[in-house]
Amino acid sequence: MRDLSNRNLCAINTATLGFRAPIDDVVDAVARAGFGAIAPWRREVEGQDVAKISRHIRDAGLAVTGYCRSTYIPALTRLTFEQNVQANRLAITDAGALGAYSFVMVVGGLPTGSKDIAAARAQVQEAAGLLVEHGRQHGVRIALEPLHPVYAADRSCLSLLSQALDMCEAVEGSSADPWLGACIDVYHVWWDPDLAGQIARAGATRRIFGFHVCDWLVPTADVLNDRGMMGDGVIDVRGIRNMAEIGGYRGAVEVEIFSTKNWWKRSMEETLQVCAERFASVS
Ligand code: ZN
Repeated sequence: MRDLSNRNLCAINTATLGFRAPIDDVVDAVARAGFGAIAPWRREVEGQDVAKISRHIRDAGLAVTGYCRSTYIPALTRLTFEQNVQANRLAITDAGALGAYSFVMVVGGLPTGSKDIAAARAQVQEAAGLLVEHGRQHGVRIALEPLHPVYAADRSCLSLLSQALDMCEAVEGSSADPWLGACIDVYHVWWDPDLAGQIARAGATRRIFGFHVCDWLVPTADVLNDRGMMGDGVIDVRGIRNMAEIGGYRGAVEVEIFSTKNWWKRSMEETLQVCAERFASVS
């Protein structure tokens, strides 16, 4: 396995720092702490000078792993569906300007008023087909991120890595150079009895486009905003990373922690320092 005491292999998803500082300050803090890459969110970028932010990130010596995240896809009407797809096209264009390796798709759950999860999934697959072409034109891979099934209604009707890979293959077929793949987040998939098999499948088809780490705390106070630092919960983070690396994954390992009550209350410097220690010791 790769040694993550080499911080160049480690990425900071800016959500980990709680969205409390302007993106330029966050970029500087991540670079000062010695990390190799960053994953910004649209809320930090949209409406600003994207080219300037991109230059700043590059000048700071950081790569961009992923750009977070998609507008939810499923909709009750065709018009809204098309508007959702178009919003994602614009975000993918920004991802290209940022030099992001991938655009991270959290696909959305049921549109309000619907009980048809199969229809929602069909819309996601159709959208993936539309967006992968736009991504290719802008040099951005499209990474479907399956979310823990607790979010199926409101955030992601895509719950399993196997579902994400089925969708990739349905849209793109088998490809030596795929542009549609999966982002594997240990928080969402650690419990999956078929995880090793599906990560091997993702690796064999070159479809691991990102790898997110944090931990599942017991008890978890809030499934959205009480994620743990690696080592503080029950996920075998290193074991899952080993599966990805056996599968050929060589991209950065990205920490992504939503933690309103703990990590978001600490200084950026302290959180980054603990991230670095936990990358090296337990991730
Ligand atoms: Zn994630």
